[in-house]
Amino acid sequence: MTTAACKTDLKNLNLPALEHFLLGHGKERFRATQVFKWIYQQDARTFDEMTNISKELRRELTEKAFISNLEPEAVEEGSDGTRKYLFNLGDGNAVESVLIPIEGRNTLCISSQAGCAMGCEFCLTGTFKLTRNLTTAEIVNQIMAVRRDIARNPPTPQSADDIWGDDEDGDRSQSQAEIRNIVLMGMGEPLHNLDNVIPAIQIMIDGNGLQFSNRRVTVSTCGLVPQMARLGREIPNVNLAVSLNATTDELRNRIMPVNRSYPIKELLRACREFPLPGRRKVTFEYVLLGGLNDTLEDAKRLLRLISDIPNKVNLIPFNEHEGCDFKAPSQAAIDAFHKYLIDRHVTVITRDSRGGDISAACGQLKGRLGQGGEPLA
Ligand code: SAH
Ligand code: SF4
Repeated sequence: MTTAACKTDLKNLNLPALEHFLLGHGKERFRATQVFKWIYQQDARTFDEMTNISKELRRELTEKAFISNLEPEAVEEGSDGTRKYLFNLGDGNAVESVLIPIEGRNTLCISSQAGCAMGCEFCLTGTFKLTRNLTTAEIVNQIMAVRRDIARNPPTPQSADDIWGDDEDGDRSQSQAEIRNIVLMGMGEPLHNLDNVIPAIQIMIDGNGLQFSNRRVTVSTCGLVPQMARLGREIPNVNLAVSLNATTDELRNRIMPVNRSYPIKELLRACREFPLPGRRKVTFEYVLLGGLNDTLEDAKRLLRLISDIPNKVNLIPFNEHEGCDFKAPSQAAIDAFHKYLIDRHVTVITRDSRGGDISAACGQLKGRLGQGGEPLA
């Protein structure tokens, strides 16, 4: 079998690594840029397509390397236009990506791990434990597959507020057939897989690669403090979202075990030290759990905690799922929490349950295939 096992998947390499790979095979540096552009800008899947590269190099590359690809095994569209893609990774694992179409600014939420080791009590992905890290290729291939799908079949835009990307210019001119913002907020904890996530983001923001502005890429973390510092060092200017979800260590320790290693004070210090340019803000995500963290006292404490950090707040009403005893907050509690913050000039967006009817909302991604490899309903 001449399969992948001993060949290098070029989608695991950022541009400097691809240069290194080709230099190691006696090739000029500029060849790497050519190959990189073929892969990410022309979506080439074979070396034969690379017509500005000599036949000899193409043959050599075919012997030593390959270009992986993902096609969704299932695509579901919710009544609000949200699209959920299920990707079979071929080894029994599957992950999901969710496209949230908002007029002129489609946002794609991608996964970074199969399962998650962080064990947050309210999160369905967390209940599956970590099966494995996604490779760099598997992370960027989610974007490429969705890009292909929406070029063929653009989603219906929704008119709703959105919070992702640094969009204060109000520009909504982008085509519905393109992805505007990427959020690493699907399955898994991206900062628990930084070795693969960092090259993936570098590919996303490379001008010869997927060409996203770093203002349009957001990494969401449950609060792995040392890894936040590493992310900031290696990719300054990427957007940071932090799942705070509680305003006391007592409650956060209970619902997010990571807090026992990195309590709120240390987490907020890491947020303050995160290198965000100019007017950019840290997004604080706050899952509202009915009767647990949704009172005005919580809102008051939240404001106090984050007020010295340039911030915006993303309130996410808890999405209920089987086997989890937490309750969704009442509409009155959501409204009161939201109003408390708005009245104090906080930028706050309350997430509607986007994709709820296709289980594509936050915390509902399970990325599970049935016994025969078919998607579970
Ligand atoms: N691991 C990262 C990113 C993936 S989780 C993180 O924790 O930030 C994405 C978001 O979904 C997090 O803000 C998390 O708090 C939220 N979430 C998880 N389960 C949820 C649920 N059942 N209802 C609503 N939000 C949930
Ligand atoms: Fe993992 Fe994020 Fe879910 Fe926590 S909320 S278990 S960190 S995916």
